[in-house]
Parts: sequence; structure tokens; C-alpha cells
Amino acid sequence: MQPPVPSLSLLCVLIALCGSLAGSTSARGEWIDQRTVDLFEIRSEFSLDDDSGHSLLSEFRRLRDDVESILGIKASNDPIEVNLFAGRSTYQKHLAVRVPEGASRVALYVQGSDRGRVYVFRHRGYEVDVRHECTHALLHNALPYVPLWLDEGFAEYFEVPASQRATGHEHLKSVHRAMFLRWNPSLTELESRRDLSEMSGSDYRDSWAWVHYLLHGPIESRQVLSNYLYDIRIGNPAGMLSERLAQNVPGVRSQMTRHFQNLK
Ligand SMILES: [Zn+2]
Repeated sequence: MQPPVPSLSLLCVLIALCGSLAGSTSARGEWIDQRTVDLFEIRSEFSLDDDSGHSLLSEFRRLRDDVESILGIKASNDPIEVNLFAGRSTYQKHLAVRVPEGASRVALYVQGSDRGRVYVFRHRGYEVDVRHECTHALLHNALPYVPLWLDEGFAEYFEVPASQRATGHEHLKSVHRAMFLRWNPSLTELESRRDLSEMSGSDYRDSWAWVHYLLHGPIESRQVLSNYLYDIRIGNPAGMLSERLAQNVPGVRSQMTRHFQNLK
């Protein structure tokens, strides 16, 4: 369950990590469970051989299928390392010598020079963190770069179970509350964010809202997103999505507001 405005604890860090620091043991010693699911190389401090573990494992393949089919992208076969910790203390201990600037985060995706790495510790609802961080990993496997706001917007969108993506995310309630106060999310302002430290909780919600509109709104908006991702993928100068929307979708801001009014 997400708070109305997302906790900053869900912020992720995208930095290069030297492969030699990756290490083969957990902070506790040997990993209890190691297995590969598709391109995810999973290492866990707790057994995944129970109902909740099996449920989590099934999420990995589904997430890749969903991200690829919904966004029309294709992840490379480069492995994604997923590190699961039994609790916050071993998570922080593990990160302290590898990504110390990320140790205070609840969950983390690190784009390394050799592979992407996801770090999550087990807590109530940690599956949300796994889906969020693995979405980042899949996006960066598939695309040479992802604008910050769009990276977080997609991760917020895919972090909930598939059945909740359209109408079940807590952000939707937050958007409806904000609409009472003349909610007016500026995509150009989101596009101006250059660092995660500049992203506020409402920026996360609004990034999610633009992504939701682009995926569930009018077909012409979805086509603009599709073309944008295609250009990023093949290396064409992609520019700003806001400019493309302004050129191709008349009244896009009011259309977006109507989109959420209709979801009430
Ligand atoms: Zn994130």
C-alpha cells in the first residue's frame, strides 16, 4: 500500500558500480537461495522455495513481458542481478561497502558498467520495491537512456500488481485530491529535473499521472509516446516529449485532466 504522496524512501539511484565490488556473498555469508529466472539472476538471504517465494519468482517473468509488450520495447539479454536481503541491517551492511550513498534508501537500482543491480530487503510489501527497481533495470536494458521523470513514472506505474495498474494505485486517489486544488501538473517542469534529489513526492505522483495518461488516454497520445521510445531506442534525437505532445495532441493538458476526471 502506497501513501498518498510517495515516500522519498522509494527513490532509486542510478550510478556506475565497479564490477569488482559486486561480491559473491551476502552480508550474512553465503546466499541462501540463488536462481535464474529469465535474465534475472536472483540471490537471496531467505528461501524463495515457499508460496510467497514462488509468487515473487513468477512476477519477474511477468514483469518483463508486461514492460516489453505495453511499452513496445525489447530488453537485451544482459543479466540483471537481483539481491534480496532478509532485513534492513544486512541490506545496509552490504551496500555500505558497495554503494554507500544508497544505503539509506529502502530499495535501489544501480546501473553498473557490467550489469544492472537491484537491491531490496524483505519487509511488508517489499514486492512493490522489487517491481519498481526491476522496471528501472528492464528500461535501462532496453534503451540507451531514459529521461528521469519518465524512468520514475514507468517504475511507479509497474510497481503495483498488474490488476491494480489501471485504477488501483494510491497515486490515483492523490490525483483526485489534488484536483480539488486546481491540480496542474507541468510536464516541462518534470522534464527539467536532472537529479533524483530534485524530485519531490508530488513529482513522482505527477510522473506516474503522465505515464498513466499516455498509456490509458487517447490513442494519439499513446502514439506520441511510442514514437518517442522508438527514437530513443534507435538513437534518433528524441527531444522533449512535451514538445511532441504539444505538436500532435491539441489541448493535451486539458485532455489529461479530463482523463482523470473520467476515472472517478
Ligand atoms: Zn525509482
